[in-house]
Amino acid sequence: MPLFRFRRKEHTTSNVCPRTELCPLFRRNASNGGYSSVKYRELYCEAGIKAYSNCKRYIIYHAIDSCPDYVMPNSSFSIEEIISRINKQAKNRNNL
Ligand code: SF4
Repeated sequence: MPLFRFRRKEHTTSNVCPRTELCPLFRRNASNGGYSSVKYRELYCEAGIKAYSNCKRYIIYHAIDSCPDYVMPNSSFSIEEIISRINKQAKNRNNL
């Protein structure tokens, strides 16, 4: 059984990621304005569909409908590795 199924991608005509309203990383970055936050916005959040579709957070949102705060847009971990980690954490929480 697959770890996850991809949902249909959200369609938008905007250059801005459709997840900005819900994404804590974007919302936090929008208010603190530090160098990395500006770069994430430039490289992913506000850079068009091709760019934000490659954001690891965006991909995880589509796979499992949520994304932990520690996942960065340019994470070096694969989607499978990230989801495996999320599943392990959920399993550990359920065993407490
Ligand atoms: S960090 Fe990724 S998911 Fe969040 S708003 Fe930016 S592009 Fe979208």
